[in-house]
Amino acid sequence: VDGSADGRIAEPREVLRRVFGHDAFRGEQEAVVEQIVRGGDAVVLFPTGAGKSMCYQVPALCRPGTAIVVSPLIALMRDQVEALRQAGVAAASMNSSMSEEERSAVWRDLVDGRLDLLYVTPERLVTEGFRRTLSNVRIALFAIDEAHCVSAWGHDFRPEYRDLARLAVDYPDVPRIALTATADATTRADIVERLALDDAPVFMTSFDRPNIRYAIVERDNPKKQLLAFLENHKGESGIVYCLSRRKVEETAEWLNGEGIYALPYHAGMDAAVKAKNQDAFLKEEDLCLVATVAFGMGIDKPDVRFVAHLDLPSSVEAYYQETGRAGRDGQPSEAWMAYGLQDVVQRRRMIDEGGSEEMIKRVERGKLDALLGICETADCRRAAILRHFGEDHPGGCGNCDTCLSPVETWDGTEAATQFLAAVYRTGERYGSGYVIDVLMGKASEKVQRAGHDKMPVFGVGKAVDQRTWQSVARQLVSANLLTIDHEAFGALQLAESARAVFRGERRVVLRKDRARRSTQFRRTGA
Ligand code: ADP
Ligand code: ZN
Repeated sequence: VDGSADGRIAEPREVLRRVFGHDAFRGEQEAVVEQIVRGGDAVVLFPTGAGKSMCYQVPALCRPGTAIVVSPLIALMRDQVEALRQAGVAAASMNSSMSEEERSAVWRDLVDGRLDLLYVTPERLVTEGFRRTLSNVRIALFAIDEAHCVSAWGHDFRPEYRDLARLAVDYPDVPRIALTATADATTRADIVERLALDDAPVFMTSFDRPNIRYAIVERDNPKKQLLAFLENHKGESGIVYCLSRRKVEETAEWLNGEGIYALPYHAGMDAAVKAKNQDAFLKEEDLCLVATVAFGMGIDKPDVRFVAHLDLPSSVEAYYQETGRAGRDGQPSEAWMAYGLQDVVQRRRMIDEGGSEEMIKRVERGKLDALLGICETADCRRAAILRHFGEDHPGGCGNCDTCLSPVETWDGTEAATQFLAAVYRTGERYGSGYVIDVLMGKASEKVQRAGHDKMPVFGVGKAVDQRTWQSVARQLVSANLLTIDHEAFGALQLAESARAVFRGERRVVLRKDRARRSTQFRRTGA
């Protein structure tokens, strides 16, 4: 490509067509490309499959010099470099898996200006030696891929990403573009702040994946439930996520016994076997890969027809990202999860007994509640997921389980009003656990210290048990009547829409907690 190597500026659409074989830019791609080509910075929040790579690969070829792409995973780099080379682009990567000779060949190409793109890990980019070399290289742009890795609230935190803030200082004139498919408000704010991109425009497209059907079921007989689900996906490829390595191996073995072609994948396996199983998954059309979350990042298999979760994912972002590996080709696909109360109890305990500071624990609890809110919503799942990412969706998508077969509900207006009032009266400074203590009339030391045992709301919710209150709290979050302020360490706050409930203008319909439906809801008076 003559774009960057000889310093000539090539035209973006021309590059898109000639090099990548695409007729037109999609969505916001062109706006991003223009911004970078003219030397500006950008933050790009596109869902998986929307085409983030073009946002920096095209500018890399339009601007003179070499584009430096920061990427967290060697496997991810390898695939990208391979694809670029096949398109005739001078791309290379520099990583610890390469031999000394390979590395020095890349060094030479870099210094001689022969490279259009160079992929590096964040830790390499900030080493002294690399920085010295870069000072003699013309840099077209810096692309920071999987930028959510900079956020400690995210599920892929990589401390080395924090060092990338210095790029802004060291190369003030080089455009920087941060890209991610994970973009809840907290992570977004973190990316902007930690990467010093305050002045950069944010480009976003809808996170909706309309071809993915969402379904979340309560787990009673997981094996039977999984088999019933897989029955609809005979001869198709998909991923079954499990939390533990042992469960991965057991599940894969059991599936094979049931006549379903399955292979395991987790971080504890022999590297060669892992590579072999991953390869099989990429090539074959009817393979069920049973994996821990170690599997998936950077896997570009377009025809993954289903993603099943046998355990609760770590957060809404993780759930979205993991399920997002289905249907990248736009064809109908299914995201299915079975979760149980046990998951919730176990996750709570992990947070409570974990080594984190109290502040981080509150954030973690808030994240768990947001996810449970989606599990328990009586409304459209898609709307609840998108709302989490700050998108307004009218609901009624017609392609999720709650839309397709409405769940049993109860009129939770009174309970909701009591809960919202308790949040308000306690100053919108506490998490759900505290608010529930107040509602149930538990005069803990903390409650007494704050004087909240003297308030009218204290004890008004005695008739309802704790689990129901927890479910109410999560559903209020999921319905966007309450928001979780992650910067205030998980404090619940009233959303604008809560007013209508106080004024009696809005009924709150809640989903029945199936396990306790018979005993529970008569007592609420609903
Ligand atoms: P992301 O990184 O956002 O998940 P990719 O960059 O891997 O997405 O792109 C997803 C798919 O979309 C790829 O197969 C890519 O070739 C294709 N693609 C990207 N941009 C375009 C475009 N403008 N026209 C057609 N296909 C595109
Ligand atoms: Zn729906």
